[in-house]
Amino acid sequence: MVQIVIIGGSFAGIAAALKAKELYPKAEVSVIERQEKLAYMPNSFSWSLKHQMASDNQEFFNKKVVENSGIKLYLGQEVIDIDASRQRLLLDNGYCLVYDRLILAMGSRQMSDYIKGSHLPGVLSCKTYQESQEAKTLLAKAERIAVIGAGQIGIETSETCLKLGKKVYLFEAQESLDFNFFDADFLSPMLNDMKKAGLNLFCQERVHTIEQVDSGLRLVTDCQSVTVDLILLCAGFRPNSALVKQLPILSPDQTIEVDTYLRTAIPEIFAVGDLIRVPLLSENNLVYRPLINTALKTGSLAAYNLWESTYSLPLSTQLVAHKQYSWYRTALGLTAEEAIFEQDIACIDYQASFSSHVTDQIFIRLVVAKETGRLLGAQALSKQNCLTLFQPLVLAMAEQKTDEDLVFQDFLFSLGQTELFYHLHQIMLKSLVERRS
Ligand SMILES: Cc1cc2nc3c(=O)[nH]c(=O)nc-3n(C[C@H](O)[C@H](O)[C@H](O)COP(=O)(O)OP(=O)(O)OC[C@H]3O[C@@H](n4cnc5c(N)ncnc54)[C@H](O)[C@@H]3O)c2cc1C
Repeated sequence: MVQIVIIGGSFAGIAAALKAKELYPKAEVSVIERQEKLAYMPNSFSWSLKHQMASDNQEFFNKKVVENSGIKLYLGQEVIDIDASRQRLLLDNGYCLVYDRLILAMGSRQMSDYIKGSHLPGVLSCKTYQESQEAKTLLAKAERIAVIGAGQIGIETSETCLKLGKKVYLFEAQESLDFNFFDADFLSPMLNDMKKAGLNLFCQERVHTIEQVDSGLRLVTDCQSVTVDLILLCAGFRPNSALVKQLPILSPDQTIEVDTYLRTAIPEIFAVGDLIRVPLLSENNLVYRPLINTALKTGSLAAYNLWESTYSLPLSTQLVAHKQYSWYRTALGLTAEEAIFEQDIACIDYQASFSSHVTDQIFIRLVVAKETGRLLGAQALSKQNCLTLFQPLVLAMAEQKTDEDLVFQDFLFSLGQTELFYHLHQIMLKSLVERRS
């Protein structure tokens, strides 16, 4: 029987397994996962604390459904060696598995190479279930919390800790919040509300040392030192690729090198999810952005390509959306700060009432190529729910469409119910004028 083996039973690994079992029903599909949980949703940590929920569903995939589809699960077991020449895996319990096709889905972990002391007790991340449980226990006793990294996860974690009545310090090495997705100035209304909520926010302050002192953990930046009871590490995603360091498939940044069919340099081995980089808006712009949508889609795409190169990975637009500190925000593509390095751009800013019935404002920024109007990036922020605003731009952006291509397309408009997409029409009109002026 043909053997398809997947290392890692999280978003990417299980998406790959389910699709592989469906496409090749006669094959034996096995998933090895070192945790006991399948695809633990790391946001469960914040959700459960914020909403005082006990432990609702925390797994994205249901174990029973996966098993009933005929997939063999090896939970609580770790692959410790890959013998690529004999197509064999060695597990930590001494068990050996052979494979005809192997999908690497070992994902990522959060760690810091540059912070001295980041391995001290009391410095935690919350990516796995065990880490989250430990963080919850320590959080209950802690009064002063430092969160390192003001990306989506750090912002969410800081909000959760404030809601629990803690004194919270949020440190970000870069100039601004969530800088991979939003320009520095764009999030200033949200930033004001974060400070009003009592957050001690320090941007452009890289934490370089953590020390154990009598009164807790002292965290040292270039500008100051702060002593806290608990540190939550919310930055520094690194691919979990140590297992394959002896194979000729690693990039210098430790991601796994794949082609557009997600094949590695070894024909039987594929890699997916948080192990790989994706092409952001251009084949040459490979970026490492650990996201669930990337994990899910690359998992199922690899399954299609196991024997024949069926589907290639389209250009990514890295669409994201969040609600934090009462603000909804969404973004895709490049920020203006990033895009300006590549070409002559126009940055179109737009502000309007959210709808004919709601006076709350919506702020939108569009980044386009000045000459052609090609869409390069977009950001939106509002107190009203605008999370889906940019989904219609994903294909347009990946296919390198322009403001002219989109401006007179139909858009959904239901007075008093859904007027959201009217704003896209408006900002495209504005772009036509402003980028030519
Ligand atoms: C707090 C938090 C919140 C997040 N929120 C979001 C969000 O809202 N939206 C979003 O898009 N992304 C979010 N992310 C990122 C998202 O979690 C990752 O992009 C996603 O989990 C990647 O899935 P994956 O399957 O590629 O890898 P992972 O989820 O990292 O899973 C890899 C799996 O492989 C297993 N494994 C590794 N090595 C071995 C081995 N040798 N043997 C056996 N098993 C092994 C691991 O135990 C793990 O379960 C969040 C992350 C964190 C930490």
